[in-house]
Amino acid sequence: MPNVDLMDPPAARETPAPEPEVSPAPLPTVKLRLANVSKTYQSATQTGEALAPLDMEVEEGECVVIFGPSGCGKSTLLNLIAGFEPPTTGEITLGGKPVTKPGSDRLMMFQEHALFPWLNVIRNVMYGLKNERGFRFRPWKQREAARSWLELMHMEEFETALVHELSGGMKQRIALARALAPDPKVLLIDEPFPALDALTKTKLYGDLQEILVRTKKTIISVTHDPREAACLGDRVVIFTPRPGKIQREIRVDLPRPRDINAAEVGEYAAQIMAELESQSDEKHPD
Ligand code: ADP
Ligand code: MG
Repeated sequence: MPNVDLMDPPAARETPAPEPEVSPAPLPTVKLRLANVSKTYQSATQTGEALAPLDMEVEEGECVVIFGPSGCGKSTLLNLIAGFEPPTTGEITLGGKPVTKPGSDRLMMFQEHALFPWLNVIRNVMYGLKNERGFRFRPWKQREAARSWLELMHMEEFETALVHELSGGMKQRIALARALAPDPKVLLIDEPFPALDALTKTKLYGDLQEILVRTKKTIISVTHDPREAACLGDRVVIFTPRPGKIQREIRVDLPRPRDINAAEVGEYAAQIMAELESQSDEKHPD
């Protein structure tokens, strides 16, 4: 008599093999969240509201451009996200953790390139790899990491050059490489290329597109130029004049890399500009 325990029970034979588990597509995680964030500056004599309370979310890998007139609080907003100053109301969180101070997870590329003139190009980029406790890697690794960023910026030939030997556009590339080298979760860019000629700007925006595509970096950039906003942003958040608040968001549905001079970019730029003009119509109705 066969051992019944060794036979398949009938029920088991009829049950089909379980389907391999298909995990659902992961939902995009909200990386950065601003809830009811505002900023009021207080001096001995007066109080000035720079940013009205606003809510904003930035997804992982998204490039959001803050667009608005001069003085509407764009730099203020970046400074709050960078943790340079606290908001007057509300809370900023990155990956669920409150932002309370500057950190290497949120790095800013400044308007002024702010490179060290006494360091050569590669050492400036390597400096970005330094954190509060000193350098994070051994020197050869720092050099290797810095070199790969220089390659991405098409600046590898200039690694031993000194800062004063570089053009304005080159300095901005190095500043960008230095901000990217520590692999921040969020890169903050404040009016990146204000004083550059049209050709240099076109090339730099081309490079930024490449970085966006290759690194999928989460970027928040600020500009008052509608074409720059349309070229760079997945989403353009249009601010009202001071105190800044969100007037409208425009999603830029164009494939990358985008050419800043392309007609489609121009169409989005016109749409963004029309929003800005509608603000002044509201302020000065005919
Ligand atoms: P934007 O970058 O859009 O041009 P800012 O964020 O620099 O605007 O400034 C927004 C407003 O807040 C401006 O009116 C500016 O004068 C004011 N402001 C910015 N920083 C300070 C500060 N540290 N102290 C007082 N007022 C400030
Ligand atoms: Mg500014």
